[in-house]
Amino acid sequence: YQQRVAGLVARHTRDVADFPTPGVVFKDITPLFANAAAFGSVLDLLAERHEGGVDVVAGVEARGFVIGAPLAQRMGVGFVPIRKKGKLPGEVVAQSYDLEYGSATIEMHTDAVKPGARVLVIDDVLATGGTAVASCELVEKVGGSVVGFDVLVELAFLDGRARLERWPVHTGLVVD
Ligand code: AMP
Repeated sequence: YQQRVAGLVARHTRDVADFPTPGVVFKDITPLFANAAAFGSVLDLLAERHEGGVDVVAGVEARGFVIGAPLAQRMGVGFVPIRKKGKLPGEVVAQSYDLEYGSATIEMHTDAVKPGARVLVIDDVLATGGTAVASCELVEKVGGSVVGFDVLVELAFLDGRARLERWPVHTGLVVD
């Protein structure tokens, strides 16, 4: 599974040096989104991997929406957004986390998942793991059970995985 996802992601991802700040190599997966066959294959693989084990897919703003919504449809389950603070209209639960400079807050609707629902959390890139940990904690705060955190690209040199030991993590392309 991982090898097939990794191959597809590697062929359709481009590295952008010094974006958004000097020293960062940005993993741009928009070429994957633009290729219907490749993106479709990735979604098929993700859906197959989790078949029968997921009640809800939660996507992390914004690229987690692009992957998570069609994945949820393929799996025949609902999709819920994890959004940056202040974007969701209903009653929300919030989770803050530290960034290199300052902090960030993400939110979910309080009623986004039924108690005990099995939630698969989706994002595009795992870097330091801060976003991922906050997302999984948020899902638990609204009463869901995190069955996995899936990303297409893992920046292994940042060791985000070490912070996610409480949840099963699945990645496609691993960048050392
Ligand atoms: P982190 O919280 O450090 O794991 O950062 C993960 C979040 O930031 C994800 O939502 C990614 O979309 C984004 N991100 C961080 N680093 C990169 C990178 N080098 N290339 C693309 N996206 C990144």
